[in-house]
Amino acid sequence: MSEKKEFTVLTTDDEKSNLDILAGILSPYYNILVAKSGARTLELAKEKKPDLILLDVMMPEMTGFEVITALKASNDTANIPVIFITGLSSTEDEQRGFFLGAVDYITKPFNNAIVKARVKTHMRIVDQMRTIERIGLIDPLTKIANRRGFEDRFEAEWGRAIRENIPISFLIMDIDLFKIYNDTYGHQQGDVALQAFADTTIDSLHRAADFVARWGGEEFVVLLPDTGIEGAMEIAERIRVNIEEMTIPIDEDTQTSVTVSIGINCVVPELDTPMKEFFEKADLALYKAKELGRNRIVKAEDL
Ligand code: GH3
Ligand code: MG
Ligand code: MG
Repeated sequence: MSEKKEFTVLTTDDEKSNLDILAGILSPYYNILVAKSGARTLELAKEKKPDLILLDVMMPEMTGFEVITALKASNDTANIPVIFITGLSSTEDEQRGFFLGAVDYITKPFNNAIVKARVKTHMRIVDQMRTIERIGLIDPLTKIANRRGFEDRFEAEWGRAIRENIPISFLIMDIDLFKIYNDTYGHQQGDVALQAFADTTIDSLHRAADFVARWGGEEFVVLLPDTGIEGAMEIAERIRVNIEEMTIPIDEDTQTSVTVSIGINCVVPELDTPMKEFFEKADLALYKAKELGRNRIVKAEDL
């Protein structure tokens, strides 16, 4: 069985025999990490970011209650779910465990099937949380990044541009007269056009670091790391032409098209360069492109 295991469980106990039993139960399904002390648990939790921690309470030097308190106090480890697995079986102890932030409490001697079932339940929650997070960054209609997804990426690339003293370019694109398109062909066909727009934009970009996102409504943005204004103009023009030439089918006989207006801003950012202004200037350039008659590109530096 060399199937790749997706999740990792950190098991903690000062008694080797307990660790061996837990490994026996869980290792067919999960990667297993082992810690024999509280201090080692904290180390491994920080370093390996396990998906779940099974934590003994009574250990010399540092108790499980102290360990969970330290885990919750650190941003790196606060979100890792902890299940206590302990010989302390009083209601007070159990209550204390939950109060300190555990997701479950199993008393020793434990039943193998119950340990397995509970771990599985909590792993499913971990998995679902991750899916929700992932979906939270993606626009469901076009399957490209949404504004939040863009902002994550933008901040990283902005920081890199500052460190490496390189330019970064930003395009903001708004489909022309899209209200009329919707009014003419219907909202559902409008959605088809938005999907086609996203696909054509992606196809117009060639570098792995280029990043496109749906800003909202019929507005899209492109981030072009390590790209100066000439390069950005070239890519914007490529997108503009590809959108203009793109045909969006309605049925076998009918095809529609749209055009796009684009505002561009480019900067070699420094630590004190305001991000907000960078976006606002691109937006003003877009506004100018609309004013000048649409289906065109305006650079912020020409305003
Ligand atoms: P302009 O050239 O000045 O940008 O004109 P416009 O009509 O594109 O601008 P306006 O902001 O007046 O209208 C935007 C339209 O985009 C209105 C709205 O119905 C449509 N729209 C926004 N989001 C969606 C969507 O998710 N699906 C569809 N089908 N239409 C959308
Ligand atoms: Mg708009
Ligand atoms: Mg528009």
